[in-house]
Amino acid sequence: MLQNPLQQLLRRTLVSVFALAASALLHATTLGRIEVACAVCSAKSEQTVIGSTNTMGAPDLDLRPAEMQRSTMEFWVQECPHCGYCAGDLAQGTPAEAAVVKSPAYQSQLKNPLFPPLANRFLCAMLLSDQSGRIESALRSAHCAAWACDDADKTAEAKQARTAALERLRKLKSEGKSLYGQKGADAVLLSDLARRISDFESAVASAREGLALAPESIVAAVLALEIRLAEQKDAGRHTLDEIPDPAAAKTES
Ligand SMILES: [Zn+2]
Repeated sequence: MLQNPLQQLLRRTLVSVFALAASALLHATTLGRIEVACAVCSAKSEQTVIGSTNTMGAPDLDLRPAEMQRSTMEFWVQECPHCGYCAGDLAQGTPAEAAVVKSPAYQSQLKNPLFPPLANRFLCAMLLSDQSGRIESALRSAHCAAWACDDADKTAEAKQARTAALERLRKLKSEGKSLYGQKGADAVLLSDLARRISDFESAVASAREGLALAPESIVAAVLALEIRLAEQKDAGRHTLDEIPDPAAAKTES
């Protein structure tokens, strides 16, 4: 999902788009069913796992992948039907996480009627990551929850989830850590998260901070696009193929 550095995704988008198009025609998403024993309650359940998938086309500016991977999101987090434990792999878990699952806050989030069920699963995964101090994982879960809200046209809830992701990304930054480990790439996400919740001032400030790091030209082009969109007060979804000068990006690959 968000683990690839920005440059890798950009290169994939801008340079290998034709190869990917051909590949996508040959390789549809494949799914499988497995039985998993829950690490929290020991109950067994059937879960769907992704065998293979592909992306064809440009990811969003926040690196949400294009189809077909885009539509596999519901299989990125499993939910135990017995205790409500939500994780990428239900077989993995700690006693501390089991305590979180049983907490009223967790169970209330899992059943929150305002959010789509998929978003609740990601937000529960976020609570578990928060508990164990895994900020990167928590922010990715919050971000996925926002995407699930986008897909369900839940604008206010998407804003809440993006705010949660933004808080965690800012915390990561304040601790001197990086999500992507590439100059300016974290600033792209900081800027995009802020812009999508209509905090255009923060979006511009974050993008300018990223530009001040003198990132590679391809990252700089995305940051410049974020600034332009924020200045236009555009809080909508945009994709990386909107970068004004893709030829400049190709020279980087
Ligand atoms: Zn369970």
